[in-house]
Amino acid sequence: MDWISIQKELAHEPAYRMRQVKKALFVDFIETWDEVTVLPKALREKLSVEFPLGVTAKTLVSKDDATVKALITLKDSKQIESVLMRHESGRNTVCVSSLVGCPMGCTFCATATMGMVRKLTADEIVLQVLFFARLLKREKARVGSVVFMGMGEPFLNYEAVIEAVRMLHDPEMFGIGARHISISTCGILEGIQRLTKEDIPVNLAISLHGSNDEVREKLMPVARTYTIEKLMETIDEYIQVTNRKVMFEYLLVEGVNDADEHARELGKIIKGKLCMVNLISYNPTGKYTATSEKQINHFKSLLEKAKVEVSIRYRFGRDIEGACGQLATKSSS
Ligand code: SAH
Repeated sequence: MDWISIQKELAHEPAYRMRQVKKALFVDFIETWDEVTVLPKALREKLSVEFPLGVTAKTLVSKDDATVKALITLKDSKQIESVLMRHESGRNTVCVSSLVGCPMGCTFCATATMGMVRKLTADEIVLQVLFFARLLKREKARVGSVVFMGMGEPFLNYEAVIEAVRMLHDPEMFGIGARHISISTCGILEGIQRLTKEDIPVNLAISLHGSNDEVREKLMPVARTYTIEKLMETIDEYIQVTNRKVMFEYLLVEGVNDADEHARELGKIIKGKLCMVNLISYNPTGKYTATSEKQINHFKSLLEKAKVEVSIRYRFGRDIEGACGQLATKSSS
C-alpha cells in the first residue's frame, strides 16, 4: 500500500473521492479495490492495477491463540515482523517495527545481531497495523492499541514514526487514541526532547535495564553516549511539560542487573517521579540466563517497598518466538 501515491492519484478526482478511499482503506480495511463499490468501475480497475492492496506475509499463531506473529515481506524483499497480542480484557495490541534491523547493539536483543539495514517508511509502519486490522475485522474485532516495541529504535526514524502515529491517530483513519499508542526507546535524548514538543499525547516508554551506568553499559552500548543522569534530566523535562507518566522497562538478566542492590538503586532513581517500572523477563537469545520468577517477584516487592509503581510484563507468544527481541532473525535464515 502506497498511501502517498494513492493520494497523488486521487488529487485529479473530485474531493469526495479522497474521503471515500480513505474510509475504505483505513476504516473499512478493504482488501481489494473491488469492495469499494461507491467508486466508478474504471477508477477501481485503475487503482487495482496501480496500487495492489495485498500484503505478503507469513503468520504464526501461538498455541493459546493469544499471539499472532506476522513476517511481512516488503517491496524490496526485506522482511520485518509485527505481533498481534490479544489481551484477556478483549483489547488487541499490535507491536510494530520501526527499522529493518537495528544499529543500537543491545547485547540481549536478537534484532541487534542483524545490524542496521534500513529505516521503514511511515506507510510500511502503518501497513503492519493494517495487516492485523484486516485480520481482526474478519472476527469483528479491532486494533485497540499500538506499541513501537518491535524491531528497531523508533527515534532513529523519528519523522516516519511520528507520521505513522498521526495516521493511526487520525479519526478518519484508524482513530486510535493517543493514549493507546506507545513509543519505546533505548533512550535517545534528542528523540525524547522532540517528543516533548509534539502535539499528540502518546505514551513514552524507556528501556532502562540498568540501575547505574556501569550495569547499563554492559547491556546497552547507548549508555556510553547518554548517562542515566542526563537521561533522567531529559525525562524530568518531558514530565514537566507533558504531565504524562513515563514507563521504564527493566529487563531482568541473571547475575547482571537483578540483585537486591539493583532494585534499591533503581528505587532511588525513580522514586517521586511520575513514572512506573515494567519488569520484563529476559527471553533467552543465547547470551544470558533469565532471572528466576521468584527473584523477579522479590525484585518487584523491593521496588514496592521503595514506593515505586511496578508491574511484571506478561509474556506473549513465547512458543512462536514472538516475544520481544526475537523478531525476524530466525525467519530470514
Ligand atoms: N528500541 C526500542 C524498542 C524496541 S525493543 C527500545 O529499546 O525500547 C522493545 C523492548 O523489548 C525493549 O524494552 C527491549 O529492551 C526489549 N527486549 C529486547 N530483547 C529482549 C529479550 N531478549 N528479552 C526481553 N525483552 C527484550
